[in-house]
Amino acid sequence: MTPFSEEHELFRQTVRRFVEEEINPHADAWEEAGIFPAHALFKKLGDLGALGLTYPEEYGGMGLDYWYSVVFAEELGRADCNGVPMAIAVQTDMCTPALAEFGSHELKKRFLEPAVKGDAVGAIAVSEPDAGSDVAAIRTRAERDGDDWVVTGQKLYITNGTQADWVCTLVRTQADAGYRGMSLIVVPTGVPGFGVSRKLRKLGNYSSDTAELTFDAVRVPVANTIGEPGKGFYLQMQQFQRERLVASVMAYSQCEKAVRMTIEYLRSREAFGKPLLANQAVQFRLAELLTEIELLKRLTHHCVEQMLGGADVTRLASMAKLKAGRLARDVMDSCLQYYGGMGYMQETLISRMYRDARLISIGGGADEVMLGIIAKLEGM
Ligand SMILES: Cc1cc2nc3c(=O)[nH]c(=O)nc-3n(C[C@H](O)[C@H](O)[C@H](O)COP(=O)(O)OP(=O)(O)OC[C@H]3O[C@@H](n4cnc5c(N)ncnc54)[C@H](O)[C@@H]3O)c2cc1C
Repeated sequence: MTPFSEEHELFRQTVRRFVEEEINPHADAWEEAGIFPAHALFKKLGDLGALGLTYPEEYGGMGLDYWYSVVFAEELGRADCNGVPMAIAVQTDMCTPALAEFGSHELKKRFLEPAVKGDAVGAIAVSEPDAGSDVAAIRTRAERDGDDWVVTGQKLYITNGTQADWVCTLVRTQADAGYRGMSLIVVPTGVPGFGVSRKLRKLGNYSSDTAELTFDAVRVPVANTIGEPGKGFYLQMQQFQRERLVASVMAYSQCEKAVRMTIEYLRSREAFGKPLLANQAVQFRLAELLTEIELLKRLTHHCVEQMLGGADVTRLASMAKLKAGRLARDVMDSCLQYYGGMGYMQETLISRMYRDARLISIGGGADEVMLGIIAKLEGM
């Protein structure tokens, strides 16, 4: 049975149109430019209500069920580049979930509401030059001075980093306390001491800007802390579940698009006197991949159902994210192979999809980090 009602499907049509009219026609230019106009695009999405689907109306949200977010991510996954969908997902599922759930009313009014309305661009800053997979090793520190935190350190690979108006930042607020000494703080980017030190060049996802950020004695009110000081690691681990879920949804959607696109290409491309698609070996490989994509979709939907039922989905979301990364690599590699020389050309969409998809096994927790979580939860 489908989890989607008629209303969900109507919303799907709206998002599909948005992708076709507002993203796809610009995808090539934004990829070439290495950035997309986040403020302009987010405003349009905010006007649609798409940036706060599940958030309370009090903060500009739509107060809808999470299946709307699944529809949104599925349709974004069909875009002609992954950089823009990823940047949108940062706003909806990576830098705002903890703020929405644990932030004070004032903090949500100042930062969540503008993000939901598309008036502000957000980013999430966890990774650092010396701490990626090992989140507990972060060094960016916030020292208390009266009613302020003074934040000093560096964050690396931050999506939306050059355009963000505020950054949900994981910092160390207590030295030598390991993961118990961290806090999540909202840092506005216009404050003295905050800087974008570098815009990074990447293998893929060109349309998304990725930056290195510097915090040089940045003063932020202690009131900008999300939840209790010292609980940042736990809040971020919870926030990661949303990030991993949305990554899995976008991944199965991208994979499905790649396979269906490849089938159409192979139907018209002839070799040895017949369409390439007429080869049983090709058919079987694509059929196998569609089967795996269906499995990932079902696992992800099961995870959403469990989450809506109030369960802790850390194990399932980690499994879905792990499978998403591995399957996307497999799918894009096979599809590119079947496009032949054409697949190796920049102008062919599959080459972009191949490059973009490689990130899924690294970002938001690498495959090995997912395996570590699963093994730990299985008591190994
Ligand atoms: C394009 C892009 C966008 C990103 N956006 C953001 C963002 O917006 N915000 C943010 O905070 N971060 C972001 N990241 C960072 C991303 O989350 C990290 O790159 C990722 O968590 C891995 O950390 P690392 O790069 O430091 O790899 P490392 O921690 O150095 O690990 C390197 C590799 O070692 C392996 N490995 C790690 N741990 C283990 C283990 N226990 N056992 C076995 N093998 C292991 C994995 O294969 C891993 O890929 C982004 C990264 C990229 C590339």
